[in-house]
Amino acid sequence: MNTILQNTTSGLTNEKSVVLSLNSQAYRASPITVHGIERIWVNLKVRITILYIAIRCYRSPGKALKAAKGIQSLVKAIYGSNKLRRAVKVDGKYYFGIYQPSFPSPLFDLFIQTELNKILPHGMKVNRFQTIQLAFTNKCPLHCEHCFEWNNLNREEPFTPDELKVLISRMQQPGCTLIHFTGGEPLVRMQILEDLIRHAVKASECWVLTSGMNLTPENAKRLKTAGATGVVISLDHYDAHIHNHFRGSDQAFDSAMKAAKNARQVKLVTAFSICMTRSFVTEENLLQYARLAKDCGVAFVQLLEPKAVGHYEGKDVSLSKEQCNFLDDFFIKINFGEEFKNYPMFNYHGYYQRKNGCMSAGNWSLYIDSAGHIDACPFCHTKQYSARDIISGKMQAEQLQMTGCPAYADFLLAPHKKEIETVSW
Ligand code: SF4
Repeated sequence: MNTILQNTTSGLTNEKSVVLSLNSQAYRASPITVHGIERIWVNLKVRITILYIAIRCYRSPGKALKAAKGIQSLVKAIYGSNKLRRAVKVDGKYYFGIYQPSFPSPLFDLFIQTELNKILPHGMKVNRFQTIQLAFTNKCPLHCEHCFEWNNLNREEPFTPDELKVLISRMQQPGCTLIHFTGGEPLVRMQILEDLIRHAVKASECWVLTSGMNLTPENAKRLKTAGATGVVISLDHYDAHIHNHFRGSDQAFDSAMKAAKNARQVKLVTAFSICMTRSFVTEENLLQYARLAKDCGVAFVQLLEPKAVGHYEGKDVSLSKEQCNFLDDFFIKINFGEEFKNYPMFNYHGYYQRKNGCMSAGNWSLYIDSAGHIDACPFCHTKQYSARDIISGKMQAEQLQMTGCPAYADFLLAPHKKEIETVSW
């Protein structure tokens, strides 16, 4: 695999910066990944559960098998393989990613029921949304190089806490599996975040997307007690200086490291998310980052590509075709390579988007930005609808019809549906 070296966007080089000691006991955490027989068993149990749900939905073994195979095809489209997937176990529940609910759980069953219905309609209850990302605050102390909320930050908040609760309830009405609370920096408004999670967990699993700022041991405990499932911490480099420069704060790296530790200690499922700038996309960097994520004991890593929106608007930040191909290969290798079996599971939207289309844009998920616009996703600021109209009742959540992703094809029309007959179970 070739190492791709590109110009640096952050203006710093690895040589100039201090690399975190990956063996540092301060950051080492015990793994929560399941292994051996347990891993085989949980994967088998998931497949049996999917088949059971399919039989319940279709009351026809033939149709059930066909649709259940479609789920396997969907997994293959997203992760590139049907091989045994890594899982982490927290509080007796298994987690396979930041966009799927815990297993076993009623929400997992409904999640599968919803996906089956997309493959082969069955008429049973489904969720309208699998994930809603709600930027409930525009307050943020950081100045990140890539911030897609840049033009909305630190203004008057569009909604009161009570209005936000109404918005959540109305979005949950047609069914919503997961809510990702984001911002701004959600932990800047800790009390409101805590209240919103308490309100939302009645019908959805809740995650918090944070820079790590203010995720103190006490706040981690408050999130857990409120019912949060996990946190996704933004960490854009394994090198403290480069991350701090990228985030516009000399505390950013330290905060992210402490946040991971504090979250793990109270058993919040913990993930890292990275914006991969051109200069970052080398095998050496990705492996260093993966090692750090493993040593921090995080369950998942999300790879995001830079997009020319927000603070990056008008800038040439997109990855090259060669870099994207390299990332596709790395993504498969890190997730299914035997030598990486103790590493976190990686999530890379670009992998399936380019091959199979977009899963957001109102189909699986949507994004409510911190100014109250309802967008296709955090990167495509389509501003098709206003959350104000949902709160006031002028519009129902069921009426939100996304016109699709402006950047990629619609996943519902993707070739994975044609593969249903050919995927091995
Ligand atoms: S990316 Fe997030 S943490 Fe950074 S400035 Fe924007 S809202 Fe704040």
